[in-house]
Amino acid sequence: MKKFTNAVVYRQKEANEILVDKGIIKTIGSNLGLVDETIDLGGKLVIAPYVDPHLHLDYVYTLSELGQKSAGSGTLFEAIEMWPKFKENLTIESVKKLAIKGIRDEVSQGVQHVRTHIDVTDPKFTALKAMLEMKEELKDIVEIQIVAFPQEGMYTYRGGLELVEEALKMGADVVGGIPHYEPAREFGEKSIHDIVKLAIKYDKLIDVHCDETDDPHSRFVELLNALVLMEDYGTRTTASHTCSFGSANNSYAYRMIDLFKKSKMNFIACPTENAYLQGRQDTYPKRRGLTRVKEFMEEGINIAFAQDSINDPWYPMGNGNLMNILDNGIHLAQIMSPEVIEKDLDLITYNGARCLNIQDRYGLEVGKDANFIVLDGIVLLM
Ligand SMILES: [Zn+2]
Repeated sequence: MKKFTNAVVYRQKEANEILVDKGIIKTIGSNLGLVDETIDLGGKLVIAPYVDPHLHLDYVYTLSELGQKSAGSGTLFEAIEMWPKFKENLTIESVKKLAIKGIRDEVSQGVQHVRTHIDVTDPKFTALKAMLEMKEELKDIVEIQIVAFPQEGMYTYRGGLELVEEALKMGADVVGGIPHYEPAREFGEKSIHDIVKLAIKYDKLIDVHCDETDDPHSRFVELLNALVLMEDYGTRTTASHTCSFGSANNSYAYRMIDLFKKSKMNFIACPTENAYLQGRQDTYPKRRGLTRVKEFMEEGINIAFAQDSINDPWYPMGNGNLMNILDNGIHLAQIMSPEVIEKDLDLITYNGARCLNIQDRYGLEVGKDANFIVLDGIVLLM
């Protein structure tokens, strides 16, 4: 039995001690008595570990390591076109070497849960094989959830759909997709149907790169939400990005927000990445590339923030610091009112855990895994 004492426990004003036994939180309170080992936290803040629910670990540091100096024009679609040149030389060793740098960036700054999208539009599954090995090798320091992600499309890439299915059989945890990249709306919609079918067939979670464009006519989120609502699969589903929803008109948006509440589908926004990628065809005014984070929070729709990229063809920066993502995100989404700011830290912790469906064992509560991080700051959290 171990006791962490002299702690400020997130959202538990009365408590200043945490008792841990065999990796599980036994008690949170005060004056918890003598135990074998006591660790003094010096009055610092204890919170649940950061969750990065959207990261491309097979891409991290490829921009500089694979000899490219520039990410081109900075649009999403140009980066996707560039990627095949990058990936043709990948080996299991090269993927692991760069991925470990990204994982070190994240874990050293407090992230303990990562959902990573791995490109499976590769008949050799080089990146997937590397990541399945790393998931097992690193399971004691970081939990990695793998998305079978068809970066070049389920139909745009010949055999893409079959590759996603094979990746699920190989051990990927989550079905991915990219409907706005398919060559016509009909194929984007077909991909959404196939994603939901595959998830149910193999009992997997869903996380779709959905409407990552400023085009308000990109509305694949509507079909995804409808299907998971009808299948009662919303809590196991995430729509990542949904940038176009930030450009949708209000009458459509409010109708959809009602339907999102019914399905209980999760959302992920990548504030730094999409502030960089979107608005590229705008002159001025220039859009922020962000979905309706503020409205989702107000309506109780689960939304989390994520890093997305670290130094890859899509985004030249990034360092796995989730606090930086949160800082940028709360500015771009304008969520700093006294009522909302108390919930902002959840965007990089509890809300991400819900996207990953690990809320049963995640968090600062008795009976849950004793994973937490210790921070200097306590401002606004008491
Ligand atoms: Zn992504």
